[in-house]
Amino acid sequence: MNLGIEGRRAIVCAASKGLGHGCAEALAREGVAVTIAARGRNDLERAAEHLRGVTDATVTPVVADVTTTEGREAVLAACPEPDILVTNAGGPRPGDFRDFSEEDWLAALRGNMLAPIELIKASVDGMMARRFGRIVNITSSAVKAPIGILGLSNGARAGLTGFVAGLARETVRHNVTINNLLPGPFDTDRLRGTCEAEATKRGVSVDSVLAERAQTNPAGRVGRPEEFGALCAFVCSAHAGYMTGQNLLLDGGAYPGTL
Ligand code: NAP
Repeated sequence: MNLGIEGRRAIVCAASKGLGHGCAEALAREGVAVTIAARGRNDLERAAEHLRGVTDATVTPVVADVTTTEGREAVLAACPEPDILVTNAGGPRPGDFRDFSEEDWLAALRGNMLAPIELIKASVDGMMARRFGRIVNITSSAVKAPIGILGLSNGARAGLTGFVAGLARETVRHNVTINNLLPGPFDTDRLRGTCEAEATKRGVSVDSVLAERAQTNPAGRVGRPEEFGALCAFVCSAHAGYMTGQNLLLDGGAYPGTL
């Protein structure tokens, strides 16, 4: 299927690795010019080289922390009129909520709620004026099925989800959609990091923890970033203008509910 977005411009946040990179690659393969952001220069340059190697798309890497005002300004300076915005940032640390300080909460809110909202604020009016916009927020399956030790993530992402639910109904009339993608376990550094912590605690290998995660998933495996990117590209496509305010779960069927 031709997704009808060749020549569009996208900002993809937190895209040197993992899910953000999967989204950037899927969009670039559709001929979208991608501005990709991350904090670490080396990984970001490597990611940009990879995208240039496998696609003909224009790739603009911007070293930026998207949870800061300066970082967001740098990204928007490189791509002032995005047609597509994929918001993303690292997830907050796990832990017992009794150990979270007010600063921990503010950092989680900045990263997983306020940064996406500020980026949406900076781009949505231009998208509506140009009558095309696709905004995708990478959140988490924990929005639908909260995980006890991820209190910071559960709370901050729920705030973003509530905000998006309201705004998404106001923009769709102008062909600007806003949707959230909710990853379950995906094979990324982040997942490996959480498995490492568990492996150390239990005195077992990281690979065995990863294998357990895969086995307990109905799909018998964890997801691949390119699968995540493929859905992102469809949600950003010309064909997806009638879908807005949705929370799309990609978890191999791990969420057990009917709806
Ligand atoms: P990842 O593989 O660790 O990649 C994270 C990417 O984000 C890297 O490119 C990193 O580069 C960049 N990044 C992190 N913080 C940033 C910031 N403040 N500003 C700009 N770039 C930043 O992680 P992932 O698995 O793709 O996860 C992406 C998001 O999905 C996270 O919020 C995570 O909590 C959530 N999630 C992931 C899973 C999973 O199984 N993978 C499941 C549920 C939810 P730098 O460090 O160089 O900045």
